[in-house]
Amino acid sequence: MDTATTVAPSRLARVAAGLRRALRRSLDVALPPLCPACRDLVTDTGLCPTCWSKLGFISAPYCPRLGIPFAYDPGPGILSMQAIADPPAYQRARAAVRYDDVARTLVHALKYQDRTDLAPAMGRWMARAGRELLEDADVLVPVPLHWRRGWSRRYNQSGALARSIERQSGVKMISEALRRVRSTQQQIGLSRSQRASNVQGAFKVAADRQSEIQGRRVVLIDDVLTSGATADACARALLRAKAAQVDVLVFARVVDTHKAPI
Ligand SMILES: [Zn+2]
Repeated sequence: MDTATTVAPSRLARVAAGLRRALRRSLDVALPPLCPACRDLVTDTGLCPTCWSKLGFISAPYCPRLGIPFAYDPGPGILSMQAIADPPAYQRARAAVRYDDVARTLVHALKYQDRTDLAPAMGRWMARAGRELLEDADVLVPVPLHWRRGWSRRYNQSGALARSIERQSGVKMISEALRRVRSTQQQIGLSRSQRASNVQGAFKVAADRQSEIQGRRVVLIDDVLTSGATADACARALLRAKAAQVDVLVFARVVDTHKAPI
């Protein structure tokens, strides 16, 4: 009797993929950890000292509204031109680092290479950068993946970062508060206005989570802030669900969208 003919090929492929993953995980445990950016050997999980020193940590002075670093200190309370010309729906945004080569490698390792071991350190840097936001916050809400992309990547990197920040700050994370109500194109390669219309109305607060959002001060968590279109669309959805305030905390932000596209 040929039992193989009774097993669907897709199921066999899934089993094979599962075995491959298990093998890779067992190898990861056996091998010494590598720096996710340059693949040099490191003693602990995380970046080697050289790559760490290349990370562009963002510190004051920056725009109190958008968190965009200033080249010089214009004095307290002075906003960036962008915050005045095109104010977002969210109140304040903060980022741990500039989105440069090392930051991009970390984001991609977390997102596509199952490097969930990076989330605690990235979350720690975010918690430090967003301290004043977290002091005022009631809840953390991660930006959701599209369900198809969530399936292929199997977990939400924003959720992994939010969990780490929850541990650091004690501010409670509400998972799956936001849902994507329609599919969106990937934002990569789109212009600023295309990005905004691509995600407009794409998010909604889940009906069974509304009571946890209403009247609360929310910190929205994402990995990268580029044009701010996704964060803005999420903030609008949270405000429609009567959130008292929405701030945004990301791992990395694009500081000059012309020079550093995703
Ligand atoms: Zn390195």
